[in-house]
Amino acid sequence: MEHFYDVAIVGGGIAGYTAALTAKNLLLDYIWLGTEPFGEKLRAAEKVTNFPAIEGKGSGFVAALVSQMAREEIAFTRARVDGVYAAGEKFLLTSKEQTFEAASVILATGVETRGQMRGEREFLGRGVSYCAVCDGALYKGKRIAAVLSSQNFEQEAEYLARFAEKVWCFCLYDEPKLRGEKFVVRSDMPLAVEGEGRVERIVCKEGAIPVDGVFFLKNSAPPAALCGGVRTDGAHILVGRDLATNIKGLFAAGDVTGRPYQYVKAAGEGCVAAHSARTFLLARKKGTNL
Ligand SMILES: Cc1cc2nc3c(=O)[nH]c(=O)nc-3n(C[C@H](O)[C@H](O)[C@H](O)COP(=O)(O)OP(=O)(O)OC[C@H]3O[C@@H](n4cnc5c(N)ncnc54)[C@H](O)[C@@H]3O)c2cc1C
Repeated sequence: MEHFYDVAIVGGGIAGYTAALTAKNLLLDYIWLGTEPFGEKLRAAEKVTNFPAIEGKGSGFVAALVSQMAREEIAFTRARVDGVYAAGEKFLLTSKEQTFEAASVILATGVETRGQMRGEREFLGRGVSYCAVCDGALYKGKRIAAVLSSQNFEQEAEYLARFAEKVWCFCLYDEPKLRGEKFVVRSDMPLAVEGEGRVERIVCKEGAIPVDGVFFLKNSAPPAALCGGVRTDGAHILVGRDLATNIKGLFAAGDVTGRPYQYVKAAGEGCVAAHSARTFLLARKKGTNL
C-alpha cells in the first residue's frame, strides 16, 4: 500500500523548505517534493540584502540552507508533480515515476516570471499543455511546438518526439543540445498561440507555423493547470490569512500566492502553511471540520 502522509509539500524553493522544516518540527509525517532543493531563483540572486542575517550571493544563501537542511535532517524527494487531485478525504499527487497520497497538501511551486503568452491560457486543455508525460501520447503523428525555458526540459522534448511527427522547439536558453530529424530547434520567443476553438498554429515573427499542440515546459506551470478547481487570480492562488485555498486541506505558500516576490515572505508563508495544515488535520481528527 502507498504511504499515506499527513502533508505533501510541492516545490523545492524556500517556501517549500520552510514548510518542510516546520512540518518536521510539528511532528507531521511529511513528504517534500520538487525538482531540486533550492532551485535556480535562489542561486541566481547576485546580492541578497533583505533577508535577516544573510548577506551576499544567492549561492552563499543556498549553501547555508543546504547545511541547515542536513543538520535538521530534512528529507527531499525529487519529483516533478504533474497533477494534484482531491479524492474524498485525501489527495493524490502524480508524477512521471510515482503517485503519492496525503491528507493535506501545500503548494509552493513559485511563479514563472516570464509571464504567459497570448493564447496560452485560452487554449489550456485544448491544445496547450504543461506536461509532456501527461499529454505527449495524444499527439501521435502530429505536429507540435514546445517552448522550453531551460535545458532541464530537453528530456521532456525528446519524450514528445517519440510520438509527434515534428516538434518545433523554441529553446529560450543558450546552446540547446536537442538533435534529431524530428526537431526544428529555434532560439526565438514565439509571439502567440492561435486557433478556432483549439490550437491550430503558433505565431512567430516571420509568420505562423501550423501545429496541433503547444507544450510550455517551464519550472512553474499555472496552478490551475496543476490542480483543477483551485481558485486563482492569474498566476496566483487565492488564499486566506492561514494560507488555505478554496479546497479543504489544500494550502499554498510563497510566490505562488502573490506579491511581493521575496524570500522572507515566501519563507514565512511556508511556516504558516505548515501550521495551518496541522490545525486542519487536528480538527479533522476531532471531527470538527474547519
Ligand atoms: C534573479 C533573481 C534575484 C532575486 N533576488 C531576490 C533578493 O535579493 N531578495 C528577495 O527577497 N527575493 C529575490 N528574488 C525573488 C525570490 O527568488 C522569490 O521570491 C523566492 O525564490 C520565492 O520562493 P518560492 O519557494 O515561493 O518559489 P521558487 O523559488 O520559485 O521555488 C519553487 C520551486 O518549485 C518547483 N516547482 C514548480 N512546479 C513544480 C512541480 N509541479 N513539481 C515539483 N516542483 C515544482 C520549481 O522548479 C522551483 O524549484 C529574486 C528572484 C530572481 C529571479
